[in-house]
Amino acid sequence: AESVELCIIGAGPAGLSAAIYAGRAGIATKLFGRTPKFAADYEIDNYYGFPETILGRDLHERGLAQAARFGVPAIEEQVLGLHMAEKGFEVVTAKSKVLACAVILATGVARNRPKIAGLSEFEGKGVSYCVTCDGFFFKNKPVVALGEGNYAASQALELLNYTPHVTLCLHGKKSAIDEDFAARLNKAGVVVVEQAVERLEGENGLDRLVFKDGSTLDAHGLFVAMGEASGADFAQSLGLQTSGAYIEVDREQATNIPGIFAAGDCTGGFLQISTAVGEGALAARAAIAYVKKHCR
Ligand code: FAD
Repeated sequence: AESVELCIIGAGPAGLSAAIYAGRAGIATKLFGRTPKFAADYEIDNYYGFPETILGRDLHERGLAQAARFGVPAIEEQVLGLHMAEKGFEVVTAKSKVLACAVILATGVARNRPKIAGLSEFEGKGVSYCVTCDGFFFKNKPVVALGEGNYAASQALELLNYTPHVTLCLHGKKSAIDEDFAARLNKAGVVVVEQAVERLEGENGLDRLVFKDGSTLDAHGLFVAMGEASGADFAQSLGLQTSGAYIEVDREQATNIPGIFAAGDCTGGFLQISTAVGEGALAARAAIAYVKKHCR
């Protein structure tokens, strides 16, 4: 795996602002992220310095170009996992692995929670959002990874470390799993079901999923992994303090784990471009100081 001083996850206003500061400070930085939601034909009317308004798309492109000018181009790869490593942190994408001494999470608003009757009732009693945290409790039990993309596929494969009885459920969505992951699921014997889950049932914990057509599937664990991994998912697998789905940070954007910082919508507060940009700058300042002290 390639080693860097800093990895930024998220290419929205918070991540790009952090990248500009880190790049200018000469920190070896990698940035992963895709086009954020606001970067389309929306007029941004309240961002400082654009009295004529600017389209979200144009503002985003300017930010990308500015970060690239300082040596931090955005790499359009989804991050699937973030783990503690011997020294620093391991960032796993669908295509690569990076070892980073420090990480800034700038992943935007929190996780996708599917609408399934009984979901919150079974949280902690079978429903989980983190295989790294909870997979162990389901040794040799039937489990389901729920989601339509590579994140769910990676969670299903990780579940095989604990049990051979793994099903992947697309929850009624069109599969967005790439060929490589599909081949790995197939080889490992993971069954893929397409139907949407309607409700959960169980006596002293989860026993089964009930699909829209009334059919059932025995499952003691349901690992929710819809869409992309969110800041809340990374927070859970690392043990970051959260408040609801938001990552808790101090005034310097530091989390409770040394070397991990967070900025922008994933930390809650005023969900605006201006605050995301400001928090990205603060997170970079703190990460730059951390890297100089601990990584060189
Ligand atoms: P985001 O901009 O959400 O960026 C998140 C980044 O993280 C993306 O690059 C995404 O691809 C990446 N990411 C997430 N998960 C992963 C993963 N697993 N792997 C890799 N990358 C990942 N605010 C204003 O101030 N003014 C406005 O007029 C305004 N209009 C808006 C209009 C719309 C339609 C929307 C949706 C929002 C609007 N907002 C506006 C809010 C503003 O867009 C957000 O507050 C701001 O973008 C937050 O920035 P962020 O960097 O924290 O997150």
